[in-house]
Amino acid sequence: MPQVTFSKDKRQFHVELNQRVNEYFKTKQLSQRGNSKLFFKAFFMLGSLFALWAVLVFMQPLALWVNVLLLMVFGTFMAFIGFNVMHDSCHGAFSNNSVVNDIFGYSMNLLGAECRFWKVKHNVLHHTFTNVDGVDDDIFKPPFLRMSPNQPYRKIQKYQAWYMIFLYSISVLFWVYWMDFAKYFTNKVHTTDLPKKKLADHVSFWGTKLFHIGFYIIIPGMVLGFKMAFIGYFIAMLSLGIVISIVFQLAHVVEGAAYADAQATGVVDIDEDWAIYQMQSTFDFCPDNAFLTWSLGGLNYQVEHHLFPKVSHVHYPAIRKIVIEVAQKYGVQHNEFKSFWSAVKSHFGMMHHLGGVQYAQASA
Ligand SMILES: [Zn+2]
Repeated sequence: MPQVTFSKDKRQFHVELNQRVNEYFKTKQLSQRGNSKLFFKAFFMLGSLFALWAVLVFMQPLALWVNVLLLMVFGTFMAFIGFNVMHDSCHGAFSNNSVVNDIFGYSMNLLGAECRFWKVKHNVLHHTFTNVDGVDDDIFKPPFLRMSPNQPYRKIQKYQAWYMIFLYSISVLFWVYWMDFAKYFTNKVHTTDLPKKKLADHVSFWGTKLFHIGFYIIIPGMVLGFKMAFIGYFIAMLSLGIVISIVFQLAHVVEGAAYADAQATGVVDIDEDWAIYQMQSTFDFCPDNAFLTWSLGGLNYQVEHHLFPKVSHVHYPAIRKIVIEVAQKYGVQHNEFKSFWSAVKSHFGMMHHLGGVQYAQASA
């Protein structure tokens, strides 16, 4: 695994931030994990997914436009479960009880991917080494996408801002049927080794894949015919891919985000304290939008999430105020987009820059 180190200078920002956030929870006598509202939301989202599945499979015929709309909503609810239930649980932030976190973490397997692989990819690599080329698998999408100025440039990437939405749409299918298998057979995530697999890991992996095909394709196919089932499956999975990719990319691959490079030697010394580097490589978007804050599981508060990944997203609006205050005191910038569209525009703009010859040469 590459060696990435952070500067020990300017640590006071992180120390004071931790103190202030701990004080907040102590004074309010709150747990840092999820609360009853989060449990209600989790059951609402999981219940809605099964209810929508039952309607789509057993209540046909419905009008074509109703089916298409419901399938897109179904895919979006799969994404909501990923954001709200799976993400908090896999970070250990959903509940104080680790067994509850483990159980709800399997909501990722309900969507078709192996949560054990994702915990290494996301919790360890992405969170510790955000936007570090050579380690952070989230920005490693060659040959079609160039997601960092440090990556080698290929001519086809000139058009990446145009075709990336297609790749985003198939990203979950690619994940379920290719990337998970690559991790399983190579026992690696990007450049990092996974722990040796036990019997339970093999059972979980193959059980997840069989369940996915059975629940989303075979049962609907037996009731509705396989042509209908496949079309429905693709509409739902493409919707899921677009929603998940866009929401995750708005945090780190935008204009002004910091990057580091460990590709060549596998070693990089980042000349910033870890917490300050997180502030430089991460952006919030529309923190005042109540619906997005509820539905995206705090992924519009990625700055706070990266600084406090073990704190449940239900607390991020309160923590954000503390982060902004402490950041102002230490002269550290708190990055955020006020609107969803300004964040989307910046992501498309950044992908366009990264696909441009000039940007490639300037950064080579
Ligand atoms: Zn996370």
